Amino acid sequence: MTQQIGSMAELLHAQQQEHMQHRHVSSEQRRARLQQIIDVVVANYQVIVAAMEDDFAGRSQGFSVMNDILGSLASLKYARDNLDSWMGSDNRQVFSPYDQLGSTARIEYQAKGSVGIIGTWNAPLYTLLSPLACVLAAGNRAILKPSEVTPKTAAAIATVFANEIDPLIVGVVIGGVDVGVEFSHLPFDHLIFTGSTSVGKKIMQAAAQNLVPVTLELGGKSPVIVSNSCDLAETCKRIAIAKSNNGGQLCISPDIIYVPKAHIEQAATLMLDTYRSLFPVITDNVDVVPIVNTAHCQRIVDVLSQAQEAESDVRVSHSVDNLQACVSQDKRLPLHLVIAPNKSTRIMQEEIFGPAAVLLPYDDINDVINDINLRDKPLALYYFGEDQAELDLVLANTTSGGVSINDCLMHAAMHDAPFGGVGASGMGHYHGIEGFKALSHARTVFVAPQHDPRGEWGLLPPHHDQFKDMMVAQVTAD
Ligand code: NAD
Repeated sequence: MTQQIGSMAELLHAQQQEHMQHRHVSSEQRRARLQQIIDVVVANYQVIVAAMEDDFAGRSQGFSVMNDILGSLASLKYARDNLDSWMGSDNRQVFSPYDQLGSTARIEYQAKGSVGIIGTWNAPLYTLLSPLACVLAAGNRAILKPSEVTPKTAAAIATVFANEIDPLIVGVVIGGVDVGVEFSHLPFDHLIFTGSTSVGKKIMQAAAQNLVPVTLELGGKSPVIVSNSCDLAETCKRIAIAKSNNGGQLCISPDIIYVPKAHIEQAATLMLDTYRSLFPVITDNVDVVPIVNTAHCQRIVDVLSQAQEAESDVRVSHSVDNLQACVSQDKRLPLHLVIAPNKSTRIMQEEIFGPAAVLLPYDDINDVINDINLRDKPLALYYFGEDQAELDLVLANTTSGGVSINDCLMHAAMHDAPFGGVGASGMGHYHGIEGFKALSHARTVFVAPQHDPRGEWGLLPPHHDQFKDMMVAQVTAD
């Protein structure tokens, strides 16, 4: 058991004191810290995935190993193996004429200090440890705050870390929203929040009290464009596979799917067929990830019921006598596709975050682009097709956190490329060198030449009329 440190404010203060006394963290120390986290995950993963299985009342351990354990290990190992090149010298061009007088300049990426990391329940380990990889690679310390929606996982993470990791390097605090509120008001040197857009706004407000820089990893309604040029069967298969991932409880899950009007019937059928082939039955099927709890399951059922009451065209992969009964039973829901619902329905307005999607028919790709641009900037955008000119048009005229072409979700698994949102889907990045830089202070270091030429150039006071003339002569547009 490592030492315990009182309140979270005291823990942060103690970490920051340690940081000030040991500001320089060598690459060997950073690698050792990352390796220690990797070793702890490898040694304790069974306890953590068992807790996730309990929290989700049946999320399969195989899925949790793939999603949270392997996902976290991949981020940690990538940071461990690349931090030397990220930390390497970054020389910059000195302005003229100092460049000719022997000046040099460089950027040193300095550890910021202590970073707070608030995670979600849908990927309860990954949303803590994947950002932690860049935090530690950048030489920082961290305090993790797991989601209270998965309390057994939070407790398991806290116990494992308390037993094996020095809290002055990485501490864990657990608790509900009240703890999250207190956490977000602490004077961290950087705060990383993963969660909903609405809570993200509160986090930014709280962080502003102490001018704490924030990385906000939020969500939204990620659109999919099915082009006329695509292989429809393969496209629908891939969308259905992505939609099934974690029971649709993913920040980058396909949400609104734009399909050429002529193909909409066939697309719906193909997606539902794929879903049935992946999951012959839904209830009690361990391959189907349940909705995390009653409240979230009820929210999804309410959204679908409202779409039905609004006389939307709702298709379902597996018939269910009583959707409401699923809420109190095993919380596994079949795939629902809602075709062209009324714009005022909740399913058209809110992030679905469950096993459902909207299908919107279109005739003209420009209408699709306009519709995407009328909405909040999404975390992900997907394009399926082989029409290069159309793809170029889409990429040039939309924005999103990231893009996958001819598949969904894949860009987020890139460890060598930044992951993050834009606008309402977030700000800042982690993963790769961009994550390392986001968690470092980029400090410019200018080295002056031995000879100071300013006097002989007439740049020092007392100034004569020629000084102004010399300055004015340089006001040019070339
Ligand atoms: P949430 O916003 O409800 O909660 C996230 C975290 O914030 C939890 O740890 C919670 O305890 C804490 N929290 C809640 N209210 C708070 C407050 N007022 N002050 C401080 N902390 C508070 O999100 P959720 O339901 O856990 O997760 C689902 C959302 O997260 C979805 O919108 C999803 O798209 C998004 N998400 C984003 C990513 C990403 O990488 N961009 C990844 C996973 C999930």
